[in-house]
Amino acid sequence: MSTQETRTSIVWDYAPAPESPDHVRLRDSYGLFVDGDFRDPLDGTRVPTLNPATEEPVAEVAFAGPADLRRAVESARRAQPGWAALSGLERSKYLFRIARLIQERARELAVVESMDGGKPVRESRDVDVPLAAAHFFHYAGWADKLSYGVGGRAAAPVGVAAQIVPWNFPLLMAAWKLAPALACGNTSVLKPAETTPLTALLLAEILQEAELPPGVVSIVPGDGAAGAALVREPDIDKVAFTGSTGVGKDIQAALAGRAVSLTLELGGKSANIVFEDAALDQAVEGIVNGIFFNQGHVCCAGSRLLIQESVADTVIGKLWERMGRLRVGDPLDKNTDVGAINSREQLERIQSLVSAGEEEGAVRRSISCELPERGWWFAPTVFTEVAPAHRIAVEEIFGPVVSVLTFRTQAEAIEKANNSTYGLAAGIWTDKGAKAFEVASALQAGVVWQNTYNHFDPTAAFGGYKESGFGREGGAAGLRPYLRVT
Ligand code: NAD
Repeated sequence: MSTQETRTSIVWDYAPAPESPDHVRLRDSYGLFVDGDFRDPLDGTRVPTLNPATEEPVAEVAFAGPADLRRAVESARRAQPGWAALSGLERSKYLFRIARLIQERARELAVVESMDGGKPVRESRDVDVPLAAAHFFHYAGWADKLSYGVGGRAAAPVGVAAQIVPWNFPLLMAAWKLAPALACGNTSVLKPAETTPLTALLLAEILQEAELPPGVVSIVPGDGAAGAALVREPDIDKVAFTGSTGVGKDIQAALAGRAVSLTLELGGKSANIVFEDAALDQAVEGIVNGIFFNQGHVCCAGSRLLIQESVADTVIGKLWERMGRLRVGDPLDKNTDVGAINSREQLERIQSLVSAGEEEGAVRRSISCELPERGWWFAPTVFTEVAPAHRIAVEEIFGPVVSVLTFRTQAEAIEKANNSTYGLAAGIWTDKGAKAFEVASALQAGVVWQNTYNHFDPTAAFGGYKESGFGREGGAAGLRPYLRVT
């Protein structure tokens, strides 16, 4: 491994700009949000949720046991006919109210998201929270126009949805799941990830404040066992899962033979393709955003960087120089670019794949930066001399690590980009519009960005090909999984 100092000789630094957590009103302990209220677990436990930047507990949270999940599903079933019987206009008023309340509590939600998950507050403030509100606004607009979203056909809700989300965008993924389900007249039992339950529980407070009828949404934190038990509950009609491909397969097997509809948003190893005619400085910004945004804990991260051979040295040089300016550290500092790794377990996963990359002969460069003594951190890293068969070119690292491959022709770029079991997203950097369209239409990826990356919008459908899953979230396409269309 070679670790290099990359800062230029001009030394200047930012003054710390910490976002204060003083305005945050967290309870010491949260119950399960079931049937409209926070309740003690029947057979679950209580566990502390840790701040990954300090390893200190932020609050204590109830984890659901089997009886708790049963109670939540029963309350969703009771609430569903009444919720579906409301006019679309009435349901949309609730969704608007939720969106407005998210906006009102935006600062608090952003700080808690960063404390619980480790992401820079700049991102939770500017991306996660505004986009979560935007999803509720968007689907509020759809609630009274559902049949227009499905080609003018009659549409009815599916029923009770079990929704399971991961830890990388806790509030945003909850919004992606809840907003379309509720707009379509379904009720939901939402299970947040074990390491990041807090913003979902603040959202539960918002649902109470919005006077959402009891049982329309229950929020039941818990571990993988709780997720596995939830999808096996007999009285559910739909499962919407976002998480790893391994767990997605397990869920698919568990639902085989049952009349439960399923959407899976799974992992990725997305190709970010830079052609020689691209605006290279702009492309470098997109590469950085593509892989270091949210510490690389992004399903659609541009983790395979494909650069045309003629500009590879230039792009790698510019990238390395730009990486040297990334600020790694306190997630609550507004200057921070790369925050903490979400958990010790995830850090170990990243370390193990990075070691595999070195052992297989790729060349690793990690930026030199001072990492805090406590907490879980990983310095932004680039691998060159990567072969397509290396594990770091094939497996999802889910950390701030980019693997560089090169190509000579457009055909080779397409072939290499598609040489993956995944197919979630891709990026194309080129000056030529026709080339971008031609390449995009040949890529097996659910989302293709041109001259940008990690750009999200509630009106745009998001989802995968191949082992990245099936079903779409966002836009009109995101209504379809929550409706029975006749
Ligand atoms: P994970 O699959 O381990 O966990 C995701 C959720 O599933 C958590 O809430 C977890 O408690 C629960 N879970 C764990 N085992 C379960 C089981 N057997 N049955 C039911 N639920 C279970 O994934 P993770 O490590 O939390 O998240 C990272 C993964 O999520 C990555 O692979 C990433 O690519 C993927 N992801 C995909 C998208 C997308 O939209 N495609 C978005 C974000 C994350």
